[in-house]
Amino acid sequence: MFYNKLLSEAKGNLKKALEFISEHHLPPTPPCYMVIYEYVAGKNKHIAEEIDNFISENNRVDIVFINALYDNFYTCSNVESMNEFYVEIEKILMAVLTQTELTGNGITDYNQTLQAHLLNLKRKHNSETIGRIVMELIQSTEVARQSMVELQSCLDSVKEEAKTLREQIEKIKKEAATDLLTGLLNRRSFDAELAEFIEESCNSGVELSVLMIDIDYFKQINDTYGHLIGDEVLQFLGKNIKKCIRGTDIAGRYGGEEFSIILPNTPLCGARQVAETIRKTVKKIRLVKKRTNEYLPSITISVGVTMYRKNETKEDFLDRADSALYKSKQHGRNRTTVE
Ligand code: GH3
Ligand code: MG
Ligand code: MG
Repeated sequence: MFYNKLLSEAKGNLKKALEFISEHHLPPTPPCYMVIYEYVAGKNKHIAEEIDNFISENNRVDIVFINALYDNFYTCSNVESMNEFYVEIEKILMAVLTQTELTGNGITDYNQTLQAHLLNLKRKHNSETIGRIVMELIQSTEVARQSMVELQSCLDSVKEEAKTLREQIEKIKKEAATDLLTGLLNRRSFDAELAEFIEESCNSGVELSVLMIDIDYFKQINDTYGHLIGDEVLQFLGKNIKKCIRGTDIAGRYGGEEFSIILPNTPLCGARQVAETIRKTVKKIRLVKKRTNEYLPSITISVGVTMYRKNETKEDFLDRADSALYKSKQHGRNRTTVE
């Protein structure tokens, strides 16, 4: 049917776009949807060429690349393509509306038929005409019923589709906020969270602390045991950080072997305790290289602790945490410095 064709076409392209976004861990921003939608729908040959070439040269499709494409192709000139994107989404809505309207018309016809038959019945009739009227009634009732069934199935399929799309968007959002190796927040979402906590702290005056953690001599671990073991050490640290913090605390991987933790409602002394718990927990565990059963040297971390000063910028706040961390390094590593 008409609406089915429209639906499946628009839904197919949206699905493909979402899958691409998920696969490449792109954030679900509107420009990103637009560019990727155009790409998977094969609507814009220039965009397709740019992306295909980029991929074939073994580049990683990231948001910087996508934003550049968006700026090149949409911001100034290609308003038409932009509209096309919205038209595609509108198709889904139109399909539902069309079906609702068809059903509405069907119901109006049905009402008219009922009324006509009612008038007819008020007159005197023989059994043969009454039989005919009843037959017609059955037929028009069946048509109306059919129309309702079609509307129902159309609504069901749209509802189902909307649910899947919503789930996919949620999944993509979560993936875009997460560091894949450790499962902690990535730097971008960590920064966004910190900005919110800072605002809250400015408004309410509630204490807010931050830890900055860096693995000691991590380069040596990589150089001696290889990057894969290095990655496992990062995962190990991520897991242990999670174990040592409360549900309201927020941990992120801030850079290669640097982690950062937001401790809401926590004064300096409390933050120091958390830092020390993590440091001691990590130091105590000896990792074993599975293949050879060889013990890795114990992993140590250096930590910097700071508490937010009202009205300072996020950058200044983190800089102070970084300076404290630097002091821990200077004074021999495997220690916590409170600023
Ligand atoms: P310091 O005690 O002064 O912090 O010494 P360091 O060796 O830890 O510091 P440095 O900054 O010299 O080296 C950090 C190393 O972290 C270098 C880099 O190869 C490694 N690294 C960064 N990201 C990753 C990652 O995702 N996986 C692995 N395996 N290594 C990483
Ligand atoms: Mg470092
Ligand atoms: Mg380090």
